[in-house]
Amino acid sequence: MRHAARVCGRFAPSPTGYVHLGNAWAFLLVWLSARAQNGRMILRVEDIDPQRSRTEFIDALLEDMRWLGLDWDEGPDVAGPAQPYLQSLRKGHYEEALTRLDRIGVTYPCFCTRGELRNLASAPHAEDAVVPYPGTCRRLDEAQRAVLFGAGRRAAVRLRCSAEEVSFTDALKGEGRMRLADCGGDFALRRSDGVISYQLAVTVDDAAMGITEVVRGRDILHSTPGQIVLQRLLGYATPRYAHIPLLLDNNGERLAKRHKGLALRSLRQQGADARRVVGLLSRMAGLNPREQPVKPGDLLPRFTLARLPEHDQRVTEDDVRRLVA
Ligand code: GLU
Repeated sequence: MRHAARVCGRFAPSPTGYVHLGNAWAFLLVWLSARAQNGRMILRVEDIDPQRSRTEFIDALLEDMRWLGLDWDEGPDVAGPAQPYLQSLRKGHYEEALTRLDRIGVTYPCFCTRGELRNLASAPHAEDAVVPYPGTCRRLDEAQRAVLFGAGRRAAVRLRCSAEEVSFTDALKGEGRMRLADCGGDFALRRSDGVISYQLAVTVDDAAMGITEVVRGRDILHSTPGQIVLQRLLGYATPRYAHIPLLLDNNGERLAKRHKGLALRSLRQQGADARRVVGLLSRMAGLNPREQPVKPGDLLPRFTLARLPEHDQRVTEDDVRRLVA
């Protein structure tokens, strides 16, 4: 008899800045969900875009995550069967998947200009990530493509998406359906400068690393249908998804790298203690009403994703003051 695979979750940070409270919130919930099910954790560094990633942030993020009290069973600093754990070292895997997709005939070259393609490999939170590709190059015939290639034009590779709806279950929101056309349409698999897209890299890696559970911010929900379509085309299993609420600042903006004062390093320099940070995050997650200082492991007995609040949570100036008081 086959046993159900052991749960395996993943941290998937992009080394584009220092870990801030919003990342810490997501990492804590990812970790709690996997560990509460006695699952494994993998840390994968999403440094696929050389223009945005910086190596000095990789060391910093490992250090900041450990400071918070999180751990992992495999990662850049812990060897494991799915290594390497840096996307920049995994290009062979992505190219192989791309070749398979080419062979099935679901890709096409896209000659649209760099400006139009600029954000394709960027972190998937970009405001314009869901602007649909108008399908301009999908309609080119072989002769037109040959002319463009002949003129030395470089092409991105896009997936030819169908009009169907993709249905999937979210551990927080339940059953849902989304149209790929509403999530950006024919998305890029590789940019014209050769950089593999987030969508392809993440799908290949989640499968290669045996990830069974993807817990991530609800701002990435629009990327999920495309990843599921790729999984089906490539014969991969679909993990369980949970799109969690976000942390917002006082003005209702999603916490991001530009909130420099909310970087864990900066809070630490101002005297914040990791157990208080986890106390605040777990209070916002509905797990610690009195905001007791705690270690992540203290929250495990009470944790289930189903108990998380439905709505985004605001971090107020008072909250931050309490952390560093
Ligand atoms: N590297 C992505 C980010 O920084 C993670 C996306 C994901 O969890 O799939 O947001």
